[in-house]
Amino acid sequence: MVKKSEAKKLAEEILSNPKNMLSDKDFPVKKAESFSTGYVKFLANKTEREVVEYVLPILRDKGYTEYKRGMEHEPGVKFFKVNRNKTILMGTFGKRPVSEGMRVSVAHIDSPRLDFKPHPLFEDTEMAFFKTHYYGGIKKYQWTTIPLSIRGVIKTSDGKTVTVRFGEDENEPCLLITDLLPHLAQNQMSKTASKVVEGEQLNLLIGSRPFEGEGIKEPVKLKIMSLLHEKYGIKEGDFESAELCAVPAFKARTMGLDESMIAGYGQDDSSCAYAEFMAELDTKDPEYTTLTIFADKEETGSDGVTGMRSFFFRDFMEDLAQDVDAEVHDVLRNSICLSCDVGAAYDPAYPDVYERTNCAYLNYGPIISKYDGSRGKYSTNDASAEMVDYLLSILREEKVVWQMGELGKIDVGGGGTIASEISVHDIDTIDIGVPVLSMHAPVEVTSKADVYMLYKAILAVYNSKRPKDF
Ligand code: MN
Ligand code: MN
Repeated sequence: MVKKSEAKKLAEEILSNPKNMLSDKDFPVKKAESFSTGYVKFLANKTEREVVEYVLPILRDKGYTEYKRGMEHEPGVKFFKVNRNKTILMGTFGKRPVSEGMRVSVAHIDSPRLDFKPHPLFEDTEMAFFKTHYYGGIKKYQWTTIPLSIRGVIKTSDGKTVTVRFGEDENEPCLLITDLLPHLAQNQMSKTASKVVEGEQLNLLIGSRPFEGEGIKEPVKLKIMSLLHEKYGIKEGDFESAELCAVPAFKARTMGLDESMIAGYGQDDSSCAYAEFMAELDTKDPEYTTLTIFADKEETGSDGVTGMRSFFFRDFMEDLAQDVDAEVHDVLRNSICLSCDVGAAYDPAYPDVYERTNCAYLNYGPIISKYDGSRGKYSTNDASAEMVDYLLSILREEKVVWQMGELGKIDVGGGGTIASEISVHDIDTIDIGVPVLSMHAPVEVTSKADVYMLYKAILAVYNSKRPKDF
């Protein structure tokens, strides 16, 4: 029988002892707090186009120049490359040639939302509406009776490009989707949640004032179109060549009486994108070339020319390889990638869906997932023990806190990330991201400490001299 104190000693030595970061008196609360100020500003950008537009002037200001094929890979030189205003690659050349591998991280900058249909405007019973087609996985009922704003671009028939960012400032009107009063909702309330509000009911109410004058068939619609014509110089037909969407009009803000959290739209995946962005900006003279990727279309499967499955990425890697007379497959094989996407944080209101020993908790640091996917590990990038060890070794060295886990219980659902789109190129890839409450809801919740610690994790990898030996 060992003495109690010895048992305690042994337990400390050989058992894992995860802790809430905020219970550690040495946790840099002030740094995490000031980091979150920049993060809240970043969250004001609610579409992929807006994020790219926001980061470009910052990159130029920090000395990043546009990547050109044949460019000299001078250590410490910073570069960027934009793809169709919706995705961006940013990086810093390392001391070693890219053929010895790169340190890549990828996050997505698209979030679930309500896209406009090509013919969005209609009038019904002297009210005008925009028809939407939801983008990504949403609980449709969450999108009614909340203020919404409109974002996007319109290419007009007379050759102009109109940028729209409307309905968020207090001096601008907001828009919303109505819901049924409870008094008449007897049938609605007995439906399953996926049918309570259906896709074709997600119509934004945008007006009720008729155009003055006689003999007009749809006077409210005409009034709305005349206002849009006045404000943006557009005609109804211009909606056909537009990319518009409705997003929640809430401003991101600090949450909780203890101010430990952030409430805001689009934290999947802007929390990871911001952490990556700050790590990229703060990387000076790295050993290995860094590449920070903001991807589009993750929420709908990474298809299309701006999705991660587009050859844009591969072509860029080929260009980099050719610059130094290397083979692209050497660059890829020697690289590693952090697939930075959010995970589910444990929510005590819904204990049934989480497996308590393998789920993520708020304030326990970024969640690393060896694999994701669903059921019997279908559709997953399953990082090797060597890849996990590589990452954890760096995090240990730099005293970065992490937690390791899965999304939820095995057979209750699941989900994939961009990781598989990267590993298909023969790059060892692992998932890491911020735990989120209410993921994909109009307002999502994260902890300031977790977002900050993800930044520290990415920065540690970017700054590490550790060679890839597997
Ligand atoms: Mn995501
Ligand atoms: Mn998502």
